[in-house]
Formats: sequence, structure tokens, C-alpha cells
Amino acid sequence: MDDTYTYDLLVVGSANADLVIGVERRPHAGETVLGSDLAVHPGGKGANQAVAAARLGARTALLARVGDDDHGRLLLDSLRTADVDVSEVRTGGAPTGVALITVDPSGDNSIVVSPGANARLTPADVRDALPALRSARVVSAQLEIPLDTVGEVVRLLGPGTRFALNPSPPAPLPPEVLAACDPLIVNEHEARVVLGDTGDGAAAGERSEDWARGLLALGPRSVVITLGAEGALVADARGTARVPAVPVSAVDTTGAGDAFTAALVRRLGAGDDLPTAAAYGARVGAVAVTRRGAQASFPTADEVARATA
Ligand code: ATP
Repeated sequence: MDDTYTYDLLVVGSANADLVIGVERRPHAGETVLGSDLAVHPGGKGANQAVAAARLGARTALLARVGDDDHGRLLLDSLRTADVDVSEVRTGGAPTGVALITVDPSGDNSIVVSPGANARLTPADVRDALPALRSARVVSAQLEIPLDTVGEVVRLLGPGTRFALNPSPPAPLPPEVLAACDPLIVNEHEARVVLGDTGDGAAAGERSEDWARGLLALGPRSVVITLGAEGALVADARGTARVPAVPVSAVDTTGAGDAFTAALVRRLGAGDDLPTAAAYGARVGAVAVTRRGAQASFPTADEVARATA
């Protein structure tokens, strides 16, 4: 690979502190329940995808905003430890984003997110980061930051840079953002929202080819639909292809989508075609679901090779 680009990947996205408490049951309005000790983990889709890509060996930078507080320092530490370039992580303006997570004995989560500093990552921040944006082979984004900010990324992309979007949490997307996606990466729920599909209740597995064609008709150059333990579907002008999952015993699927996406865009940047890059994403996602946590579950390239040879 030549060295025209400083970064294999620039992620533009969120950084959150995940505050997790185990509970026997959730409190009703006005009630207090006791829970487990608090666990604080670095998270947010932007930080997660940056850490996952760096762990796979990609030269990765993150454009994000954290607060000038302990949670912000925790996030910066975890990013640096993973070898993510944090020179474009802005500090201040609001507290670091937080996800308040309760987990019940069945493993179900209830989550309240305070976007905090993520909501203050502005189009002006993107303009300030123009040299970094133009130094990346691939730029990826998610929607835990303002859509206007993603729109500015798309507007300022250099001609040789590939753009990937994981619209999570999902929202209807403007045509200029859709047209820039190569690929648009969605799970079942995100596909429905982007398509404005009111749904007939059919499972994604049954309808994913239709969804892929419907999403392509909205303008992206390529589409990837992730289907959990069913693998993924990729689609572009040449047609659609199924990408099987790697069979494993899953213990915790948190962060599987972030691991998959990071691996996919990492391999696309290295020149793989879409089905080959998605197959690698499926291998990385499979390793991630055999481990607990989000960032803690992301494997190195050697671990992927050993676990899914
Ligand atoms: P999340 O939001 O929980 O991070 P997601 O819904 O965005 O996840 P998934 O479709 O659940 O993404 O997972 C991404 C990829 O990870 C899948 O396409 C698949 O390749 C792999 N994967 C997920 N769950 C499993 C599993 N149980 N076994 C094997 N591979 C899995």
C-alpha cells in the first residue's frame, strides 16, 4: 500500500462513557432499586469503531468531542492505548456523552443516552479538521453526532477518499449523504428506518435482498446489511451476494456491529472487493461475540487469523 495517505481510516463519530449497573429488575416511576457495583467502560460507536480498526492494524484517527472531565480522560486513555490518533478529538463545550445502562438477569439492556459533547461536534469542527479529512484513505461515520456534521464531512471529502456510513441510531438521510456512501452499512432495524418501511413483520433474512435493492435505489454506491448470526448481505450495481456468518458460541453480541464495520472499512481501504471485505468483517464480528464487552472484545488481526483460520 502506498503512503499517499497518513491514515487508513478517519472515524467521525461519538465517544461515550458506558455506565453499567446490573439489576434484579428495573424500578417503576418513583421507586428505587439497588443494583450491582458500577462498571464504567469506554464506548460510543465512533470510539468503538476507531479502537476496533486500530486493533486490526489500521492507522486510525478519530474526529470526536469529549468533555473536559474524567469520562473524557478515560476515553482518551483507551483510544491512545489502542493506538488511535486523538489529535482531532476536541475537548470541552459540554460533559462527555454518557450511556446509563441497566442489565437485568436475562441480559436485556435498558439504556438512556446523554449525548453531551457528541451533540456539540459541529460542521465547524469538521472544517477545522480538513487536513486530517483529506489525509484519510477511508472516512467512516455514524449518527450519534449531528446529521449536519456528517453532511459537512460528505461535502468536504477529497476525490480519492472512500466514505462509509453506519446510520445508527437510524434517521432518514438526505440525498447528498446517501449518494456519498460506499457502502451504507445497516442492520435490520436501520434498513427499515432508512427505507421508511412500515414493515409487514417479515424477518430480515426473508426480505434483505428486497431491502438491499430498495436502499441502492436511494443512491448509495453499495450497501451492506448485517444479519447477526445469519451473516450479512452485500449489494452494489453488480448484484447482491450473501456473506455467511462464522459459526461460534456467542456470549455477548455488544459491539459486534462496530467490530464488523471497522473490519469491513479497513479491508475496503486495503483494496478488497466488497464481498471479500465483508467476509473479513464477519470473521472479526464472530470473534467479538465470543468475548464480553464492546472495546474489550475487539481482536487483533493475529487473533482473527488464529480463531477463524
Ligand atoms: P450491534 O448493534 O449489537 O453492535 P448490529 O446489529 O449492528 O450489532 P449484527 O448484525 O448483530 O450487527 O452483527 C454484525 C456482524 O457480526 C454480523 O453480520 C455477523 O457477521 C457477526 N455476528 C453477529 N452475531 C453473531 C453470532 N451470533 N455468530 C456469528 N457471527 C455473528
